[in-house]
Amino acid sequence: MTLKKELIARIKANGPISIADFMTEALLHPTKGYYTSHNPFGSQGDFVTAPEISQMFGEIIGLSLAQSWLDQGAPSSFVLAELGPGRGTLMSDILRATHSIKGFNQAARLFLVEASASLKNIQKTILSRFNPTWISKIDDLPQAPLWLVANEFFDALPIQQFERSNDGWKERHIGLIEGSLCFGVSLANSRLDLAHRLEDTKEGDIVEICTAAKNIINYVGNQITSKGGCALIFDYGDWRSQGDTLQAIQNHKHVNPLDEPGAADLTAHVDFEALAQSSTPAAHTRITPQGIYLERLGITARANQLAGRLSGAALVSHIAAHKRLTHSEEMGTIFKVLGIFPPNSKLPPGLTK
Ligand code: SAH
Repeated sequence: MTLKKELIARIKANGPISIADFMTEALLHPTKGYYTSHNPFGSQGDFVTAPEISQMFGEIIGLSLAQSWLDQGAPSSFVLAELGPGRGTLMSDILRATHSIKGFNQAARLFLVEASASLKNIQKTILSRFNPTWISKIDDLPQAPLWLVANEFFDALPIQQFERSNDGWKERHIGLIEGSLCFGVSLANSRLDLAHRLEDTKEGDIVEICTAAKNIINYVGNQITSKGGCALIFDYGDWRSQGDTLQAIQNHKHVNPLDEPGAADLTAHVDFEALAQSSTPAAHTRITPQGIYLERLGITARANQLAGRLSGAALVSHIAAHKRLTHSEEMGTIFKVLGIFPPNSKLPPGLTK
């Protein structure tokens, strides 16, 4: 039975499901979920991420994490963690760049938080010499200083959507019309956690909440405050959630999220304000557009250095990759970086308060 038929049968039996439940099934169903049954990356896949575009992305992040480690006294043992490592490319580029930072790779214990068994296998082939430990949830990390990175992880976590009405917030859910999946809304409720959204929304507007993201960041913020470390979070989104941002991508094209659950990637923009607030008692930086962050940390100098060794098609694609990562009409502006660090410590390089 397809996942769509399974979901229709479940809704028929038990009533509508939340968007968060739908996303969880569509992305992580043990056999029919998108991440569990696909390799989504690259030109043959559904989307291309920054580390897959150029090694420069991971190199810069690696040196930035290492500088933050040096700034905090270079602890002799720490956890280096990545949330949702995909094909392992970002971590592999990070560790190649940090190889030249005395003591960093020796002090690092590598932990990868990954839900997909098939992606774990791909990560094994590229990262096994660094002896990683795979865990499925953040609270399985050991108690130690924590340097953490996540690229396009938080956009994959399940969200809830709420529509403002004259008597409260109506949660959007997924039900059935004539046997087909469709969006609907529940009865209105008051929600204390959405009180701050009364100031920037009107009736009919939609806001999004990602409880899973808040819980993860809350754990990371506490760990970094008590043990030291820093987290760098890269994703598309903005300071506040901006309407209905649920989208489905298949073969590099937008499709209807309800068409074929499990076959398309489902994402939502990240609400960085919610992440920043959940990181207390840790301190957080301002969100910075990815292009500005990479330029501040010298991507153009690195691009020129690499260009010196290239010619022909390889040079053309290297120049295009630099532009794609930094240009405001490509990934430079829509993608943002948020840093989380211990209060009273130096900020992670390239970021401001
Ligand atoms: N960071 C990688 C991959 C981004 S895709 C890159 O930049 O290329 C999202 C990644 O998060 C995948 O590895 C996916 O399997 C993983 N993932 C998605 N939801 C998850 C969850 N709830 N728990 C752990 N990993 C998850």
